[in-house]
Amino acid sequence: MVGKYGDFYAAKKFGFPKAEPGEHAPSPQQFMPEHINDPSFYAKGWHAEELGDGFYWVTTPSGYESAFMLTGEGVIVIDAPPPLGENIFAAIESVTDAPVTHLVYSHWHSDHIGAASMFGPKVKIIAHDITRELLTRFPDKYRPLPTETFDTEATLEVGGTRLELSYKGADHCPGNIYIWAPTQKVLTKIDIVSPGSVAFMHCDFSENISGFYQAHDDILSYDFKALIGGHITRWGTRQDVEIVREYWHDVRDHADEALKEMASKDVLEGFHHGMGKEHRLVGAENFMNSMVNYIVDKTLSKTTSNGQTWPERLAGATPFTKYHAFTVMESTRTERTHHGYQRRGVGGPWYIV
Ligand SMILES: [Zn+2]
Repeated sequence: MVGKYGDFYAAKKFGFPKAEPGEHAPSPQQFMPEHINDPSFYAKGWHAEELGDGFYWVTTPSGYESAFMLTGEGVIVIDAPPPLGENIFAAIESVTDAPVTHLVYSHWHSDHIGAASMFGPKVKIIAHDITRELLTRFPDKYRPLPTETFDTEATLEVGGTRLELSYKGADHCPGNIYIWAPTQKVLTKIDIVSPGSVAFMHCDFSENISGFYQAHDDILSYDFKALIGGHITRWGTRQDVEIVREYWHDVRDHADEALKEMASKDVLEGFHHGMGKEHRLVGAENFMNSMVNYIVDKTLSKTTSNGQTWPERLAGATPFTKYHAFTVMESTRTERTHHGYQRRGVGGPWYIV
């Protein structure tokens, strides 16, 4: 027993069942870098690697990532996740005595920048205009307002080093930027790709799923050697991005199929058959979840481009695909064309999707 409610709060009815490890595929080996079996990683609370000339990636046992870059005039830090917190100073002090002079916010979410106040008022904070707008609207003393913001492109040049910042539109959330270190060929783009994994539930809680898909292509438009994705305890390669991009296209293709073949008026009426109007939403749940189950089955049983299935290629495929299937299917209904609309009266095409 752990915690107030034991190892799992099992709802009597209407909740989620407990997942059992034995029923799920084990994570592929490429998802598990060496340091996750190193006790000192857990004792210290951080692990850092130099990815290119003075550019360091830092991760935590809980899978939150940050980065820092040495310049001739101090240190630039990218993000300040609370699970890393002040351990970023230990990571920096392991390679330099120079002070932190700049902090770049990838996006406004507190799980990535909620420890920013620890850097104090002298550190310059660079972020997107929308990040400032959101942090002004929803103030948090742990996330100080940026001191400098930009709209589409900005260059941060400090002590002979360079970071190119770019905003290509809403994806995971509005204001989520690309942070490119051209000399080191390291790209930081948070909460899109979790290397070796299908990403956390519901497309990592992304708000704009069309933008989330687009971001995979935009990431690949950079000539990067390493991608910092913000989560999981490893950085990613180009191949990691290509693999997850293929997974997402399979999920979306199967969502399109499900909607095309199962989202008809007749099918929905079938789900409501025998129910009074007072139970229509029970039928609606079955209607939606039946399509989700179709997407899950088709996606997880598919033989993918290298001959393996997704559970063999990506961590999290069996527990998380149902959440992704739901989110991608819903985004199709809300973000993509309905190919028409109801004409006067009834009859004609039925545009539930
Ligand atoms: Zn986020």
